[in-house]
Amino acid sequence: MLRCQYNYLLAQRFDWHGQNRFPLDRCPLICQLPELKEQPNYYSQKASLTQLKLDRPWYKEIHSQVLQEVPKKVQITFERWLKGDSNGNKSGRPRFKGVGQYKTFTYPQFKRHHFANNKITLSKIGNVKVIVHRPIPVGFDIKTVSVTKKADGYNVTLSLDDKTVPTIKPDFNSDNIVGIDVGLIDFYVASDGSRINAPKHLRKAERKLKSAQRRVSRRKKGSNRRNKAIKKLAVQHKKVADTRKYFHFKTARTLLDKYDVIAVEKLNIKGLVKTQLAKSINDAGWGQFIIILSNKAENAGLKVITVNPKGTSQECSNCGHKVKKWLSQRMHNCPVCHTSLCRDLNAAINIKARGTHALKAQLMSS
Ligand SMILES: [Zn+2]
Repeated sequence: MLRCQYNYLLAQRFDWHGQNRFPLDRCPLICQLPELKEQPNYYSQKASLTQLKLDRPWYKEIHSQVLQEVPKKVQITFERWLKGDSNGNKSGRPRFKGVGQYKTFTYPQFKRHHFANNKITLSKIGNVKVIVHRPIPVGFDIKTVSVTKKADGYNVTLSLDDKTVPTIKPDFNSDNIVGIDVGLIDFYVASDGSRINAPKHLRKAERKLKSAQRRVSRRKKGSNRRNKAIKKLAVQHKKVADTRKYFHFKTARTLLDKYDVIAVEKLNIKGLVKTQLAKSINDAGWGQFIIILSNKAENAGLKVITVNPKGTSQECSNCGHKVKKWLSQRMHNCPVCHTSLCRDLNAAINIKARGTHALKAQLMSS
């Protein structure tokens, strides 16, 4: 029901745009403009929900605040498309959602006592037993509750609020810096020579994912057996994603325990996929890792700095001479200063140097 309403409100907005957008590249000096219809916005769409419940009484089964989240979602996706987010990054044209593509609903206001003893009370749904992964810390207030359908069941996400938590100010030693490079074999190689491998259980889960994928493609389209395999594949996908995320959190903590500043290459995912296919095996995970690392650093008052990735693997980290090498060449051997290093380590040292440089420039200007 929420999905249908989402699509309906989205269509309303598209309609208005189709009818009222006027291409201004050329027009006569005097021209008649058609009378403008009122543009649908969050408030008008929210107000229309009252009528909706009269026309379609079955919508009364949804809690009113949950239903009101739909025009809000439409508003956000539409604004991101036309104006972009707070950083000015525009998203693509919003899409209508097909069956099974609308997976989350949210209670924007939630009462603390509705969550107790492994039970959560969701208005209009009732008491639901939940598995609590993490207890709610003392002093926090529950702000919103979201329920998401995932491959292995329903997930409840609580967003918490604690007014006593102060905002964290950056407080780091800019000399305590490390550079890390996405390795071809390793997850990363650091400028201090340490390297981290993807853990065994993650690689095992990834192998299982591959075989689940093959099972699906072997079976006949539309068959029951194939549908069953598809379900299993979805569960395996989720397992890999969860394991990877846990690994990313753990790795980020290890790095930030040791260093105050982490220098990484600025990611260009589109470019990576095109030019360095081998590297892109890792990058699905790499983007997420950088986000987790940045958030963790910020919360601890530490810093992640991104540097220009151009030529980090070719430049000699000792003398700056450009040493061209193929992806298959695993060593960096400089003909000028005779430095001989693993290529990833050489890159990591370059990244560290660039990070130090960029950080100094940032600190100078602020
Ligand atoms: Zn050199």
